[in-house]
Amino acid sequence: MTRKTYHGSCHCKAVTFEVDLDLSHGTGRCNCSYCRKVREWAAMVKPDAFRLSGAENLTRYPDDPSRPNASFFCRNCGVRTHGAGDIPEIGGPYVGVQIPALDDATPEEIIAAPVQWMNGLKDDWFSIPAETRHL
Ligand SMILES: [Zn+2]
Repeated sequence: MTRKTYHGSCHCKAVTFEVDLDLSHGTGRCNCSYCRKVREWAAMVKPDAFRLSGAENLTRYPDDPSRPNASFFCRNCGVRTHGAGDIPEIGGPYVGVQIPALDDATPEEIIAAPVQWMNGLKDDWFSIPAETRHL
């Protein structure tokens, strides 16, 4: 697979985005207390590969400027579009695009994208959790 430009949005379309993404580079899922509740499934890109429209309609969680990593969701429909922050261990600033928010990735492309599981529940981000079927 190669890098393509995908389009994504929340459900009500108040927030839309474009992202340059190669799904064959993989996607991430996690078992931490937050990701479990939202069924996190994201693909990481550098910020310059992500172009957002309707940012004024987003709410940030956690809404705490002292925490650099946050998840963003539409304040109208509640659908999460992306997360963003800065994690030196994975190369610094990032945007984590929500796979379910992509509008024009085909089911075949999404199915073919490798999934990297993270054991966030144990703060062991580079290990695969023993169990993932409930997530
Ligand atoms: Zn919305």
